[in-house]
Amino acid sequence: MSTETPLDLKKTVNLPKTAFSQKANLAQAEPARLEKWASLDLYRLIRRAREGREKFILHDGPPYANADIHLGTAMNKILKDFIVKSRTMMGYDAPYVPGYDCHGLPIETHVERALEKKGKKKSDLSLETFRRICREHAENALKSQTRDFKRLGILGEWDNPYLTMSNHYEAETARMFARFVERGWVYKGARPVYWCLKDQTALAEAEVEYHQHTSPSVYVKFPLQSDPASIDPALAGRKVFVVIWTTTPWTLPANLGIAVHPDFEYSAFEHGDEVYIVASELVEAVAAKCGLSSGDEKPNVIARFPGAKLDRLECRHAWLDRTSLLMVGEHVTLGGEADAETELDVSEAQKKSDSKAGTGCVHTAPGHGHDDFVIGKQYGLEVYCPVDNAGRFTPEVEHFAGQRVFDANDPIVEFMRERGVLLFSENYEHRYPHCWRCKNPVIFRATPQWFISMDQAHRDLVEKDEDGRDRSNFTDNLSETPATSLRAQALAEIERVKWIPGWGVDRMRNMVKGRPDWCVSRQRVWGVSIPVFYCARCTEAVADPAVINHVAGIYERESGDAWYTHSAEDLLPPGYTCKGCGAHEWTKESDILDVWFDSGTSSVAVLENREELRWPADVYIEGGDQFRGWFNSSLMIGIAAHDRAPYNTVITHGWTLDAQGRAMHKSAGNAIEPDKVIKQSGAETIRLWCASSNYFDDMRGSDEILQRVTDAYRKLRNTARFALGNLDGFDPERDSVPVEEMEEIDRWALAELDRVTREVRAAYDGYEFHNVYRALYNFATVTLSARYFDIIKDRLYTFAPRNKARRSAQTALLQIGDALARMLGPILVFTADEIWENLPGRAEPSVHMLEFPEATGEGHAELSAEWERLFAIRDDVLRALEEARVAKQIGSSLQAKVSLKASGSALELLERHQNDLRYLFIVSQVELGKAQEGEGVSLAISVADGEKCERCWNYSTRVGESERYPTVCERCVAALKEIEEGAAD
Ligand SMILES: [Zn+2]
Ligand SMILES: [Zn+2]
Ligand SMILES: [Zn+2]
Repeated sequence: MSTETPLDLKKTVNLPKTAFSQKANLAQAEPARLEKWASLDLYRLIRRAREGREKFILHDGPPYANADIHLGTAMNKILKDFIVKSRTMMGYDAPYVPGYDCHGLPIETHVERALEKKGKKKSDLSLETFRRICREHAENALKSQTRDFKRLGILGEWDNPYLTMSNHYEAETARMFARFVERGWVYKGARPVYWCLKDQTALAEAEVEYHQHTSPSVYVKFPLQSDPASIDPALAGRKVFVVIWTTTPWTLPANLGIAVHPDFEYSAFEHGDEVYIVASELVEAVAAKCGLSSGDEKPNVIARFPGAKLDRLECRHAWLDRTSLLMVGEHVTLGGEADAETELDVSEAQKKSDSKAGTGCVHTAPGHGHDDFVIGKQYGLEVYCPVDNAGRFTPEVEHFAGQRVFDANDPIVEFMRERGVLLFSENYEHRYPHCWRCKNPVIFRATPQWFISMDQAHRDLVEKDEDGRDRSNFTDNLSETPATSLRAQALAEIERVKWIPGWGVDRMRNMVKGRPDWCVSRQRVWGVSIPVFYCARCTEAVADPAVINHVAGIYERESGDAWYTHSAEDLLPPGYTCKGCGAHEWTKESDILDVWFDSGTSSVAVLENREELRWPADVYIEGGDQFRGWFNSSLMIGIAAHDRAPYNTVITHGWTLDAQGRAMHKSAGNAIEPDKVIKQSGAETIRLWCASSNYFDDMRGSDEILQRVTDAYRKLRNTARFALGNLDGFDPERDSVPVEEMEEIDRWALAELDRVTREVRAAYDGYEFHNVYRALYNFATVTLSARYFDIIKDRLYTFAPRNKARRSAQTALLQIGDALARMLGPILVFTADEIWENLPGRAEPSVHMLEFPEATGEGHAELSAEWERLFAIRDDVLRALEEARVAKQIGSSLQAKVSLKASGSALELLERHQNDLRYLFIVSQVELGKAQEGEGVSLAISVADGEKCERCWNYSTRVGESERYPTVCERCVAALKEIEEGAAD
């Protein structure tokens, strides 16, 4: 041996070596990995690996197949992918079937605009042709969305998504409508619904947005027609007026009544020779505003009485020759308007300006407001709505016929001023509903529509000889809601479902409590036609479940286009005759179903119709706008179908906002475009951003925030790279060291890994991805990089490659690398797979087929406590070393000797770990001495004794002892001997 030439020292140091590069190059690496997954057919491999396991179903809320994806859409899908992948790694069989919402107004208006650009009109085309263009538009949009979602690393059945415009889905949508009819919950009636004047269609609650809007606020006096003495003798013979307040003067021509609260106290006060009635609490405010009190004088109240006293008395309309009925209702408040926003959920209601406007006497136009409609119905008022589809007054409206309602506001105010019935007017800022598409203010307008009743008890049995049209006995009073009504069942289900975050339950409950009947008809073309027929002779409507299911069968074969390509007689069962008059000529309903009815049908159309899925779903996750939207319509349809919510857990995520908390807009220049980020730094950056933000709140994004995410990514990557680099040549079968024979610090690292594994699993289980991120990031940067890796570097680099102590560290590194790959798997889908690929001895082709590591949680407490004490001493030592370095006392820490003095248990602790200390502190020598009792640990830094070893850079008094290797220390001499012997094997 000694005859051979000595080894080249540089080559005997085990420097890290791995194909896992420092620079991620994600923009190129990600597409390559996607191709690899495609050629593996990874999604199917995972299905096979989980076959027979317990199912976990996340049901995808379908994004609208219209525009390209933005950061919010990307975030939504990524969160879903986190859930599906983490549940898969918990061992569940968690298939993911993505969906697309394909019908509806946005596509229709888009196609109309595209036609206009070509100088064509919608009316130039047949409805079939128009629908075909809409279909093509949706197809193109969903193709490009699919490409983008796949690029984000989201795994699912992209080759077979569900589309609300597929034949089967359209048929199921029609069948669900039949189901509602069957239960006795569908009726056709005139009631006020949100109406967009521009798009000329009814809108669902989820299709309006509230924005600030300036309206004229007016106080108007209505003369009392009934004998005022019946209210109070003091009013006998007086000229009495009831004062109302409104911000929609254009609804005054439709005024049929005035509502007061039965229990509030009202006052009659005089001014000049007139007497005015308002709620007592508002007397001074109203009198001051309307100039009905002189100077500092208080209004002269001449009578006080409860609102109930006014019940069924009559006023005259402020200027029309018509009665306005006084009514009592619990909906009356003293806080100004409550009416327009009755459907609002709590959070929006809180944003509402609660000015003290109002008089406690509420102008009531049953054709133009929900509460107005409800109370009008109780008092037998007509649902009067003298406004046409375009928002113009109909000819019967005196003075204002043909005017557009919003334009008519000012003329009406002027008119009232001239007539002397206007007490006061001013501009009023308030939150007002606007159309989600065209952004114009909408109105409440009564039109004949199809409704799903919230409060009708459901019919247990289908009466075969009835056509389900008589729905006249529904009620709007919640306290009268029967237990089998849609509302009562929905409220019961809401309590059973788990809402994350927990406030979701209140939001949903309030939304369902306050919502009016569901208007499901739309005066549009691109959707599922309402399969209802009208007798050409007697105009009877046929909404018969058997007939609807018959039509659904045709949709199944030919798509919903069949409604437009076939005659009514073709669509009806052969020989179908009118039960009312015996005729057999028919017309078809021209309205389509609300798109929320479409998407709400998904649980049935998708979960029940695919073998790999099941109804109900375990989890739905969408943004907060879906309380009124998809969460709601899905609940309604779940109850109609199976008397149950279609989900067990509902998770709500926040919005994506910029760093200052503003909405992102391309035009504002603050939008983060997923496409751009992907090209620059890869989809992993967006994914890691999603994980690092707490999605239960709004999520902030900016270039600076993304830069921080990129830095965090680099740290995680470097941590994995250290583990991989030091596993070069490690054969797990041959080289692993049993845990009980491992070095104590290595066992400590595994105990820490176990702790973080437990934390990460719990966080995944609770859908708290930001906690997964935090736990893994801290583990990587603090526990591993700043502590463990620093300490084991000397052992890994300078010990003989197969030395047991070195293999002990490698055994730990392999477990750490393996666990990191699995635990990062759902989040950093590309990088985790790359880590996995570079770990020695891994057989499975992808980390995504695997399960999370198990946490044992056993026997770590003592070890962890012991090492926490050592690390506390280490912190002091590192600080002292840094001071010595700054003072130029030493160069590197290896040039230092640390002298420690301690007593009692601290001394015992240090003595127990005497051999670890130099590695723990990364110094060449440690001297341990006994301090006086109770003095704590004291330390001093000095220059290490001896010479610097050329190979390991430690200082030793024994450098030069070896003739063969005269420049190295005694440890290196031993290592070199081991290497030479190993090479000789
Ligand atoms: Zn509109
Ligand atoms: Zn008939
Ligand atoms: Zn050495």
